Amino acid sequence: MVRQPAQQMTRPSAKLLKWYDRHRRVLPWRAAPGDRADPYHVWLSEIMLQQTTVATVGRYFAEFLEKWPTVNDLAAAKLDEVLHAWQGLGYYARARNLHKCARVVAGELNGAFPGTEAQLLKLPGVGPYTAGAIAAIAFNRPASPVDGNIERVVARLFAVDEELPAAKSRIRELARGLTPKKRPGDHVQAAMDLGATVCTPKKPACAICPLSADCAAFAAGEPETYPRKPPKAERPTRRGYAYWISDGNGSILLRRRAEEGLLGGMMEVPSSIWEEGDWQSDKALAAAPLRAPRELPGMVRHTFTHFHLELRVLAGRSKGKPDGVWCPVDRFGDHALPTVMKKVVRHALNHAG
Ligand code: SF4
Repeated sequence: MVRQPAQQMTRPSAKLLKWYDRHRRVLPWRAAPGDRADPYHVWLSEIMLQQTTVATVGRYFAEFLEKWPTVNDLAAAKLDEVLHAWQGLGYYARARNLHKCARVVAGELNGAFPGTEAQLLKLPGVGPYTAGAIAAIAFNRPASPVDGNIERVVARLFAVDEELPAAKSRIRELARGLTPKKRPGDHVQAAMDLGATVCTPKKPACAICPLSADCAAFAAGEPETYPRKPPKAERPTRRGYAYWISDGNGSILLRRRAEEGLLGGMMEVPSSIWEEGDWQSDKALAAAPLRAPRELPGMVRHTFTHFHLELRVLAGRSKGKPDGVWCPVDRFGDHALPTVMKKVVRHALNHAG
C-alpha cells in the first residue's frame, strides 16, 4: 500500500530545494551553487560511487583527475593503468567499462558527453540510474535517478509497504512524480543529500527534516522500518586453493583472469575453482600445477557481495611451463591485483619462507 504524503506533490520538492540551498554537501565532483557541473566529473564520480561510499571515492576521484584531467586523457591511458588506479574500488568490470566509455566519448563524440538519458544509455557501463544521474546533475534534465538514498527517502515519504526489490518500480514512479521542472538536477542532489545526512538508514533525524510534515512514514511512526526488505539470506562460504608457484629464482607466477565474471581481467595468483562444501585437500594437491606442493599454515578469508571465500595456499616450484607472468616478489605493486589476491600475496610472503 502507498499512502500519499499530506501535502501537494510539489511541496516536498520546494522544501527540499530550500533545505539544499542551506545544507548541501560539498563534494569534490559537485559544482559550486549556480555553476554548471562538468559531465566528465559527474560521470566519473557516479561510476565510482556504484557500490562504494562517498568517503572512499573522494581520494580515487582526486587521483583520477590528477592523472587524467579530461575524458580524452583517460581514453588515451592504457587499460592496465586504469585498472591499477582503480585498485581498492572493487568490481573491476566497472573500470574496464569506464575506460571503454572514455574511448567512445573521446573517439566518437569529440570528447563531449551527450546530454539526454537515451543517448547516455548507449555508452558502455552506463545503465538507467547513471544515465539519469548524469542527465539531471550535469545537464539539468528532468530525470529521476533513484540511488539507495533516494529510494529510502521516497519509500518513507510515501510509506511504501511493498518489499524491495519488488517495490523498486513503484518507488521510481513516485520519485518521478516529485521531480520539479525547475532545478531537477539540484532536486536529485538534494534528495541524495537528505538520505545521506538526515533520512539515514537506522536513525532518521525526522525532527530536523524539511519533509517531516509531508512524510507518511513519520506520521505512521517507525520510519526506520522503510524501505521494507525481506529477511537477509545467509551468505554461503566457498572454499578453494591458491597456488603459490615459484620459478626457483625469486619470482611468483601471476595470471590474468578471464574477461567475464568475477574480478574479470584482473591479475591473480592462480587458484582452483571456488566451491561451497568441504575442503578437498587430496583433490587440490593432485590438481596443483606444482612440484612437491606443501600447504602453508592458516588461510586467507575474504568476503564478496554474495559469498564468503576461504582460500588455503599451496606452495611449490612450477610444474612444466605455465601460462602467465613471473613476478619478482618485490614487484607485486606493479600489477593490478584485486584485494583478495593482495591478501593471498601477503599471506604467502609471511608463511612461504
Ligand atoms: Fe526521512 Fe524522517 Fe524526513 Fe520522513 S521525516 S523523510 S523518515 S527524515
